[in-house]
This record gives sequence, structure tokens and C-alpha cells, in this order.
Amino acid sequence: MFHQFSSSYSHVPLTLPSGDTARPGKILCIGRNYGAHVREMDDVADLPTEPVVFLKPSTALIPSGGTVILPSQSNEVHHELELVVVIGEGGRHIPETEALNHVAAYALGLDLTARDLQAKAKADKGPWSIAKGFDTFAPLGRLTPASEITDPQALTIELKVNGEVQQHGKTAQMIFPVAGLVSYLSSVFTLEQGDLIYTGTPEGVGPIHDGDVLEATGTGLKALLVNVVAEST
Ligand code: MG
Repeated sequence: MFHQFSSSYSHVPLTLPSGDTARPGKILCIGRNYGAHVREMDDVADLPTEPVVFLKPSTALIPSGGTVILPSQSNEVHHELELVVVIGEGGRHIPETEALNHVAAYALGLDLTARDLQAKAKADKGPWSIAKGFDTFAPLGRLTPASEITDPQALTIELKVNGEVQQHGKTAQMIFPVAGLVSYLSSVFTLEQGDLIYTGTPEGVGPIHDGDVLEATGTGLKALLVNVVAEST
């Protein structure tokens, strides 16, 4: 069932509902987008007034059925369950009222995070790229056409680790909803077909370990299943 990827991370194809096969583009990620997660992470839990944005490389992608590799550089990798938006028609300065017309599909994703390296980066006032960007750190489930999701803010998403529920969230709790994120991001980055937006995680993040099995499910979304192995050094 599981496939371990060696050198082909960047070739995870995105078959869009239109039938186009897109190469994954930018992976835009939103931090601190659920209040309860902000509070579990920080003593000072001020909610953001603008989206917190970072990026991952496309080499972090693996499909459902793939294997997450825990890198030797980290002793604490956390799961973050997220709703992922897949851009269809690109654009720049997309108004919020038109934003959902640019979404081709939705999927479940995991924004895997080397929490120890992220904490060090925060302390050093450095970027999060390494903590967020290792190979296999962006599992992505199969796509559900946007036409089948009438309201992306009305979904329930859930993550089980080894069969036990660790995260359970409602997209209604997002601080910045999908339409606002697409509009905001398009004011900075030209959005292109195949770009992905990981929209932030609800509370309940926690560590993953060698041998774990992660299973994400969500309303109307296709399940995402990956296993976890430690990097062999
Ligand atoms: Mg995240």
C-alpha cells in the first residue's frame, strides 16, 4: 500500500478536474489560521490581523499511499492537518468575491513541521524554510473537484494517528477563510494553475514517530493515508 519515494518527489502529478495534468506549482502555506491552534502554540496568543504566509518546495509533496521520512536533523516532527486549495485558473489581484472561481479542487494535506528546528528559527528570528521544507513534508490527498464542495468553510476535517483521533477541526473556525486567502495571496504572488494553498491547522498538533500511520478524512474529501519511517543514516 505504501510507496517510499527516493528521487521523484517533484513528479507528484496533479490531475485537475478539467482533465489537465498540472505540475505542482508554489506551495503557499498559512500559519496561525485557527485560534485554538494559536493558543496551543504560544503563550502570547494574539490572533493575526493579516494571514501568516510561508512556502514549501514542491519536492516536499508526496501522494496518499506514500511514506513520510523523518529527517535525521530533527527530533520532533509534528503533524498539522490542513484543508488544501488547488488553484485552477490563475490570476493576480483576484477580488474576494471571485476567488472561489479560481479554485479547481480541494484536498486533505499535512503540513509536517520539524518543531524543534522551527522553535530555533523563531528564537533566532530566522525563516522557517528548513523546518517546513524537508522532502516528504507535504503529503497531499487525491483531489476533489471544487464543484463538489459547495462551501469550503462548512467542512469537518480529522486526523487519526495509529487509529486514534488527534486532530478534529471545522473549517468554519478559520480566521481567514479560503476566499480571503486566495484574494490576499494573489495580491502578492501571481497565482498559477497547480499552485497549492495549505490553509492552516486546527488544534491538536503533535509529534509523529517511526512506524506511525496517519489517516486524514474530511467532509466530501478523499482520505489521505501515509506511513512514517525514520531516515536511515
Ligand atoms: Mg500549518
